[in-house]
Amino acid sequence: MAKIFCVANQKGGVGKTTTTVNLAAGLAKVGQRVLMIDMDPQGNATMGSGIDKRELETTVYDVLLESASVAEARVRAEKCGYDVLGANRELAGAEVEMVALDRREKRLRTALAAVGAEYDFILIDCPPSLSLLTLNGLCSAHGVIVPMQCEYFALEGLTDLVNTIKQVHANLNKNLQIIGLLRIMFDPRITLQQQVSEQLKAHFGDKVFDTVIPRNVRLAEAPSYGLPGVIFDPAARGSQAFVAFAEELVQKMPPASAMAGAAPAPAPIEPPPVAMQDPSSL
Ligand code: ATP
Ligand code: MG
Repeated sequence: MAKIFCVANQKGGVGKTTTTVNLAAGLAKVGQRVLMIDMDPQGNATMGSGIDKRELETTVYDVLLESASVAEARVRAEKCGYDVLGANRELAGAEVEMVALDRREKRLRTALAAVGAEYDFILIDCPPSLSLLTLNGLCSAHGVIVPMQCEYFALEGLTDLVNTIKQVHANLNKNLQIIGLLRIMFDPRITLQQQVSEQLKAHFGDKVFDTVIPRNVRLAEAPSYGLPGVIFDPAARGSQAFVAFAEELVQKMPPASAMAGAAPAPAPIEPPPVAMQDPSSL
């Protein structure tokens, strides 16, 4: 059975999509069977996997509205080594259309049950909001991976995400837990980033992944070639970090059968006290 993870953070532009496609490619590279689901109407994860969102006839939209199964709607990202359940602008309409429907938070979950045995990992790229689309992702998942930059305001808003995860855990999905925080776009030359990174580790302990993803221009260039960085330039530092992250995840995760039982309620995550700099010390 597949382990199902959402990549979520309601902050925009923190690296969710970059993480999803590169982790998918990294997991495929280390021999895992992967389905990547794009839950964002922007369709960046779809395009970034080399699938033209404008040419897709069936997408995750059809799956949510139950006019197609996952098996019918998925496509193979040949160069990337994983399957894609793609998205395009049509998905923005699903949000409105689903409001009146029953089981609206659980539509993805129901659909995924049919293909769970075909994959080792299912990764869901969430939009930068805590919308019904994100909720469908959270209801389907065993866990959440939270990419974040080591910046002063990075933890702002994390409380909202954690509260949402706690509510989903209490009311809709007893399996859900926070798998970990992933430090991304890290630049060790910036002292503040180092400080925030160390504080994150001290405060959240093993909820922070060991692997750190550096800021690396090759990761930013790759989407314009329709490829994850891991495939576009495997030798780049950022790509190597994502393969290491895939290995860390495979190593740390228990089998999905062990994750299927109810998880304890996520512990509250309060931002650590990031010390204000004294301007006079500059
Ligand atoms: P949104 O909230 O809009 O969905 P997102 O959280 O999915 O955004 P991305 O699209 O993955 O964020 O990344 C935002 C930008 O940062 C992109 O231009 C991406 O190429 C760039 N980027 C992400 N990670 C890195 C990195 N490690 N090094 C350099 N650039 C990066
Ligand atoms: Mg994105």
